[in-house]
Order: sequence, then structure tokens, then C-alpha cells
Amino acid sequence: MRPDIDVDQHVVTSVDTLLECSRRSSEDGQHRLGAEQSEDALASPTATALQRAQARELLTLHRLRLGDYQACVQQGLLALEYFTETGDLLAQSNVHCTLALAFTDTSLNETALRHVLGALGAARACGNPVAEFWALSRSSLVHGAMGDAARSVDLGTQALAVAQTLNDQETSFVALNNLGDTYLVMSQALQAHDEDATEPLNEALTLMRAAAALAQEQGNPFNEALARTNLVSILIKLGQHDEAREHGRLGKILSRAHGYRSLEIDIDAQLAELVRAAGRFAEATSMMEAQLADPDIEEEPKLIAKLHRSLYEMHKAGGRFDKALGHHEQLHAVLLRTTVQTAGLQSQMLINTIEMEHARHELERSQLEAKMARLRAEELDAQAHTDPLTRLSNRRALDRELPWMMGLAQTGVQPLCAAMIDFDHFKQVNDRFGHGIGDEVLTTMASMLRTITRGTDLAVRVGGEEFLLVFSDTGLDEAAQACERLLASVRSFPWETLAAGLACTVSVGVAALEPHETVSAWLARADAALYTAKHAGRDQVTVAAPDRAAPVGS
Ligand code: GH3
Ligand code: MG
Ligand code: MG
Repeated sequence: MRPDIDVDQHVVTSVDTLLECSRRSSEDGQHRLGAEQSEDALASPTATALQRAQARELLTLHRLRLGDYQACVQQGLLALEYFTETGDLLAQSNVHCTLALAFTDTSLNETALRHVLGALGAARACGNPVAEFWALSRSSLVHGAMGDAARSVDLGTQALAVAQTLNDQETSFVALNNLGDTYLVMSQALQAHDEDATEPLNEALTLMRAAAALAQEQGNPFNEALARTNLVSILIKLGQHDEAREHGRLGKILSRAHGYRSLEIDIDAQLAELVRAAGRFAEATSMMEAQLADPDIEEEPKLIAKLHRSLYEMHKAGGRFDKALGHHEQLHAVLLRTTVQTAGLQSQMLINTIEMEHARHELERSQLEAKMARLRAEELDAQAHTDPLTRLSNRRALDRELPWMMGLAQTGVQPLCAAMIDFDHFKQVNDRFGHGIGDEVLTTMASMLRTITRGTDLAVRVGGEEFLLVFSDTGLDEAAQACERLLASVRSFPWETLAAGLACTVSVGVAALEPHETVSAWLARADAALYTAKHAGRDQVTVAAPDRAAPVGS
């Protein structure tokens, strides 16, 4: 088989498989691959709205780990929108946690705080302890970044307590490691104010030793190397250099063996720091300068700054002011670059958020406009089918309503009757009392018709002083009786209240719809009956027979 027609090339991976692969890539730390897999899932024409949201949820995490904060936030907010709409609290909590990390990483702490609160609220609302653990853990981190060490320790302690109920090795490790790190950060804050930091450092030491032991027991080399690196930082601050060196050595062996390049770089810097603490400045200086020359540290501005600071201090103490100045300048440049980068990133992320809000508002606006257009169309439609003087239906409404009313009648299920009503000598009403009074008579008539008709009947002003009633589910006798009652009401109405001397009567022709009869034939029979009523002296009802018109009761 030629490669270009190889059927295997046409096998389409299902969206669920892509999502599963992306999830596994996340667990394996393969974020570039994982991001591609989620992007493929997202772009798939067969992906459902749920699958697209799940792809975005994964993409948020992958983008965060790859340092692409803008894409991370954009996808996260879209995923969150979907999960909020569908009420999926667990997914909401997860996405909030990832977004919180993205915002603390870029020093947008206020926004990060909103997301950790969202994560915690959603986790508690769905009663999921794993989600609650992560939310507490991220909250601790965000409060730490905001400089609230006490709150950070408190939240970290709560997270550890939840982790201990979970019986899950990874969460237990994270809880111990993070709380240990929180105490370390707290000690740094105290030392910056020249306060005693022994107590938090000892807390940090106990927790981090437990974390390292747990990782070793679990056979998790990355976690073990991480905990040992953290132990070195704590022990340096406590002045326990021998134990620090030992953890550094073990951590470095693990990092080397498993290729944890960034941990190895951290440990190298710590070992150089230990050499400096031991007073071997020349050795420490050359170790640090070698590290600065390593291209692998280019993406670690914090470490670069730390190295330049140490070198600056050592050269200055050694009286080598030229070199000291050089490092000081480079330190300054790194700090400035990071600040500018962070600021640029921050504004981009805020712009992203605002653009998304804007898009949402646009969508809401267009939905609202569509709704208004629909209402306007309905209003126009209603106007087109209503007689403006009497507010009764007009002829056009008749065309619309009659077919379905007749459909019911012609299947023989329900009888249907039409009553054609016409004012007697109406021309004289206008002539004697004026057109305005004539109009009032017509609107009064409309009220009367509305009163005698049921919801299923139809009252129409067919033109001039002529009205049509269609009685649904009504036989000829019943319809005729209703018309007699109408005639009596018109006759006895106190028309004098409209104009002195005014009196009105109407004539009516009634016809029942015959099977297979057309509208025009049916209404023509009602008209003919009306004509008969007029000729017979007006103010009376005539019932149309199928073949001939005859006055009622004759
Ligand atoms: P008949 O008893 O034979 O029906 O006599 P009629 O005078 O009622 O009949 P005709 O058809 O000769 O006159 C109808 C009158 O109705 C003429 C017209 O001016 C009046 N008319 C039609 N539409 C309106 C309206 O909207 N308002 C008013 N005030 N009068 C109207
Ligand atoms: Mg008339
Ligand atoms: Mg008329």
C-alpha cells in the first residue's frame, strides 16, 4: 500500500482520547505535548461544549506550566464561564485554582485572591475534600505572596489537616512541603526586620524533613529532590551547614540522575552559598561565576539576581570594587527587566480579561437586540391584525384564525357558527349626532361583543358598522339565541347617555358551517341572512338554512 493512501492516516482520534492523553501528559509533566493534545481536542469539529470546556481546563494548566500566562488566563476564564453555567462546582474549583496560580505568578494578587476564594467556595459547596485541599493550599500561597505570613501559615495548616484525612501520598507531600516553605517565607520576613526567626525555621525544618522522608518512602525522586533543596535553604538560615551540605549533595545526585535541570541549578547555587558561608570566598566566587556563564539559567531571573547579589557582596567585602560595581549593575538590569516584563504581562492579562468581558457584553447586547426585534415584530403583527378604533380583530386576523377553527369544525367534531351583525340606519346616526358619536357607538358595540364572546370565539370588525362573530363549538340554535340576547342588549342599552335622543338597533344573519363548505360560501350565506333580516324590518336575527334563508322561529 502506498503511504499516501494508508488508511491508518485517516483514523481520527476521538476527542475523549485526546483529552485523556492531555490529562496523562499533565501528570507526566509533558506540558508542551499536553497543550497540543488539548488544542486538537478544542479544534475538533465533533467536540461538544462540555468537551471544549474540558479541553480549555487542561489547556489552562498546560499554558501555566509553560509560562504562557495570557493563554492560560484566556482559556481558564472561558472554561470557568461554561462550568459556571452548567453548575459543575468541582471543575469550577479546579479552574479557579489554576487561575489563582497564574495571577500570583504575575503578581496580580488581588485577582488571584478572588480566584482562591472562588475555588474554596466551590470546593466546599460540592463537598469534595481533595478540591478543598487544593483550594486551601493555593489560598495559603496567595496570602503568602501578599505578605500575610500568619494567614498563609493558618491556611497551610488547614490544608495539611485536610490532607491527613485523604490518605493520598501526593497531597500529603504537597501539604508538608508547602507549609514548610510557608514557614521559611515567614522567617525571611522576620529576618528582614531583624527579628528572631528561629521558631518558624524550626517548624519549617520539621515539616520539610517529614516531606523528604515521605518522598523517599514513596520512591518519588522529584519530590525528594525538591524537599532536599528546600531543606538546604532552611538549614543555611539556621546555620546548620553540615546537614545542609549533605541534603544538597543527595539532592544534586537525584537531580542529575533524573534530569531535573532547574532543581540542579538551584542546588548548585545553594552549595556555592554554603562555600561562601564557610568563608571560602574565592571558591564561592568562581562557583557562582561558572553558574552565571551556564546558558541553562537564562530563564531563571530570580536565581541570576541572587547570584549577582552574592558576587557583588563578596567582591565588595574583598575590596574589588570594579567587579562589585559590575555585578551591581547587572543585578539592577535583571531586576529592572523582570519588573518591566511583569508589568507588561500584567497589563496584557488585564486587557485580555477586559476584552473577554467586552465580548460577553456584546453577546448579551445582541441577544437583547434580537429579543427587542422579536417583540417589535410581534407588536407590528398585533397592530396589523387589530382594528385601531375598536381594538377588535380585523379582517386580516379573520384570515389567520378561521382556517384552524374551520379545521376543527369540518372534521365533524365541533359545530361552528358565523353571525354577521350590521347597525340599522347607521348613516342616520352619523347624520343626526355627528361622526364622533357614531364612533362611540361602534366602540360601545365592541365592548358588548367582547362581553358575550368566550376566549375561543372570534369577534371581528369586518368594516364600517359591520361586525362578525364566530362561535366555536356552538350549534345553530345556540348561536341564534346568543344573537337574540345581543339584540336585546343593544335595544335596551342607554344610548341617551352618549347623545340625547340616540337609539340603536342591529340586524343579524347567522349561518352554521356546512361540511366541505368554503369560507366565502359560508359567510355569503350569513350575509344573505342578514340581508333578509334587514328586509324583514331590521332589529332581528335571521338564521340561514343550508339551502335557503329563513327568519328565526318561522
Ligand atoms: P342599514 O340599516 O341598511 O345598514 O343602513 P345603514 O345606514 O347602516 O347603511 P349604510 O351602508 O348606508 O351606511 C353605513 C354608514 O356607516 C355610512 C358610514 O358613514 C358609516 N360608517 C362607516 N364606518 C364608520 C366609522 O368608522 N365611523 C362612523 N362614525 N361611521 C362609519
Ligand atoms: Mg348598516
Ligand atoms: Mg353596513
